[in-house]
Amino acid sequence: MNWQSGLVKTILEPKNLIISSEIAVVIADKYPKARHHYLVLPKEDIPSIFHLNKTHIPLLEELHLLGRNIIEVRGKEISDFQVGFHAEPSMQRLHLHVISKDFISHSLKTKKHWNSFNTDLFVTHDKLCHMLEKENSVQRLPKTLKDQLLATPLKCNQFLLRANSGDFR
Ligand code: AMP
Repeated sequence: MNWQSGLVKTILEPKNLIISSEIAVVIADKYPKARHHYLVLPKEDIPSIFHLNKTHIPLLEELHLLGRNIIEVRGKEISDFQVGFHAEPSMQRLHLHVISKDFISHSLKTKKHWNSFNTDLFVTHDKLCHMLEKENSVQRLPKTLKDQLLATPLKCNQFLLRANSGDFR
């Protein structure tokens, strides 16, 4: 198995499954980029978002349900999380990121890490479903756009978080 198959290897070990349904499983991200960072994978061997069409929307809803379950199990609020997919995933098997918006982690080391969650390189679950409804597929970002997004100056996400919660103090 190559490094890109790491997630598939991880879900083969029952001890790694925090939640498991007939359709999908939840595991902890091995290199968490925030205090809470989980991955939800289908049991069906779907390689990536580029293999989805609108018939997969019910499956995506199940992944989202499990994502909400793990947030609840941890006693957290969904409003403190981002739930979605990387526009350019590196690891095989479709995986939904469920990540807390604090982004506090020793594994968050590079601008690429930050921008992969805080620019359009991160596609929310809702946006992806909408895309599938409309276009019946997910296309790769053009390389120039990807490079541009990766090079985006670092921008704090906390003002928006506080503004949304009504906390301006
Ligand atoms: P992506 O860029 O969307 O493909 O993200 C892959 C995620 O998998 C990253 O957040 C990695 O930290 C995480 N990861 C890599 N290897 C493993 C592994 N063996 N088990 C669990 N998570 C992993």
